[in-house]
Amino acid sequence: MTNMNNKFEADTGKILDIVINSLYSEREIFLRELISNASDALDKRKYLGLTDKKIANSSETPEVIIEVDNKEKTLTISDNGIGMNEEDLKSSLGTIARSGTKAFLEQISKSNKDKKTDMSMIGQFGVGFYASFMVADDVEVISKKAGDSQAWKWSSDGKTGFNLVKADKDNFGTSILLKLKKDAKEFLEETRLQFIVRKYSDHISYPVKLSQKDKKDTEIKTLNEASALWTRPAKEIKDEQYQEFFSHIGAGFGKPLLTMHNNTEGTISYTNLICIPSTRPFDLFNPDRKSSLKLYINRVFITDKCDALIPSYLRFIKGLVDTQDIDLNVSREMLQNNPAVAKISKSLVGKILRELKKVSEKDMDGYKNFWKEYGAVLKEGLYEDAERKEILLDLCRFSTNESEDPISLSQYLEKMPDTQKEIYYISAETSAQALASPHLEGFKSKNIPVLIMTDAIDQFWLPMVGSFKEKKFTSITQGKINLDELDSKNKDKKNKSNNDKDKQDKEYVDLIAQLKVVLGDQVKDIRLSSKLTDSPVCLVADEGGMDIAMEQLMIQRDSNYKGAPRILEINGDHSLIKNMKSLLSKKESNDLVSDAGTLLFEQARLMEGKMPADPAQFSKIMNQFLLKAIPN
Ligand code: ADP
Repeated sequence: MTNMNNKFEADTGKILDIVINSLYSEREIFLRELISNASDALDKRKYLGLTDKKIANSSETPEVIIEVDNKEKTLTISDNGIGMNEEDLKSSLGTIARSGTKAFLEQISKSNKDKKTDMSMIGQFGVGFYASFMVADDVEVISKKAGDSQAWKWSSDGKTGFNLVKADKDNFGTSILLKLKKDAKEFLEETRLQFIVRKYSDHISYPVKLSQKDKKDTEIKTLNEASALWTRPAKEIKDEQYQEFFSHIGAGFGKPLLTMHNNTEGTISYTNLICIPSTRPFDLFNPDRKSSLKLYINRVFITDKCDALIPSYLRFIKGLVDTQDIDLNVSREMLQNNPAVAKISKSLVGKILRELKKVSEKDMDGYKNFWKEYGAVLKEGLYEDAERKEILLDLCRFSTNESEDPISLSQYLEKMPDTQKEIYYISAETSAQALASPHLEGFKSKNIPVLIMTDAIDQFWLPMVGSFKEKKFTSITQGKINLDELDSKNKDKKNKSNNDKDKQDKEYVDLIAQLKVVLGDQVKDIRLSSKLTDSPVCLVADEGGMDIAMEQLMIQRDSNYKGAPRILEINGDHSLIKNMKSLLSKKESNDLVSDAGTLLFEQARLMEGKMPADPAQFSKIMNQFLLKAIPN
């Protein structure tokens, strides 16, 4: 093809190359992508036609036609949907809509260098159309946007760019003509086409018809079932049909973790066909946190941007809701405050959470998978949806210092010794970091389980929710925790441990006073710890202040944020601390104790993942100590 009047953007060319050469294992899916686009275009026209007579399709049946031309070796896929104007063709078929797409696809294709992969998330990227170049040397798109008088022709060889010129076309809609590659002639065969349409596009609501250009008078065959999948009885639908349907609506491929197809009748009537995809969508953690659940009114697609339909903490739910209880003429904007939408949402959310609860009880492994993919998102609900706090807490899972296998809060309560009154947790960026924390030592030695919180959202819901079954959530890196109280079941033992503590407090008065002088306002306070067993020191957040992990988040957002000084806890049973106490009684060793105090403080900062407060001083003292340990 010559004289391209439009060059592809640099990214588009790259992506095309990836799509054509390394993305799909099966070339046949080009047809699925084109039929899927045609069906979306028919949906759009149907919706806009409700309010705009110029667009409405009153005379023709909405349909997709596959026309085979054996002589010219071409395949044409036509629809009488919304169509595209000059601008649409340029922007939809010449650029890549979503930022981040290229980087993601490149990464995928690199990691699958040796084998061609059916990349299950392709539907999310808006690159399906380019799959046509897997089977065609040249592609021509002739389109007339509903309501317009001018049609346009886009053509390309999928290499450098595309031509865009005026064209003639009678009806509204789009025709995509593929000049098949030499090795792709199989896609002219009727049985092959029939097989592909049945396999991938049976669920499409519109008829997909096959016509043979060169065979006169042959009947035009409808290849698919052509009724909206969700209107069919659930028991008649096969798993594969559900899967194809979900992939059509961009929920990824493969068997979903959960499929829910229900009819609800009552004060509000609706049908839902929804799923939880087996892998999380790539944009799950985008800041806009939008759901893409589709809303249909009486089988007419209305929108996939109705925030009121499902809360954002369930944005991983894909699929649709169809109802007759909303007026078809309602504007998309008004849907946000529509009472019927609110009722559907309430009912649907309840249904989803109840279903998740069932899965959590019946299918532990399945639920574990679900939690791994979506737990961090579901936890946002604890912060946002006070009304459903109980059931959401019930659905939450946490790993602990004792096991990587996540447990529920009820299971945690069962593990608690009778003397334990609070639910302990530790927050960190990763589980490995949490597990290495000195704060856990005392808990480990006393077999007290500690929940591990590694999601940013934990810092928000924990203070908001406060407790579970009247047991307070308590951070082990914040405030004073007296572990000795926990293991003393009988009173005598408890008194003895309290007496020991008082004695130890007295013994360490001088050392603590000396360290306070050395560290000054770098610490809020210094006290003996009941949590440490192996480490000599750790830093703790003040009871009423901000927990350590929350402070880290603040620092990430604002590098000038300094946070409040911490409390330094020292381990009175550690030999180093004991020796420092003894040395202090000898006046001439005061400097040594002070320097050791500085080193220990910096070490505690390092354990929190922070730089030493004074790196130069830290290195200097460290070297002096090393010199003593490694003499001449
Ligand atoms: P996706 O469909 O995932 O967005 P595609 O590359 O398949 O990505 O298509 C890009 C865009 O081109 C579509 O979003 C749509 O706006 C437009 N488009 C493609 N095919 C058609 C069609 N048959 N009718 C109208 N618009 C279409």
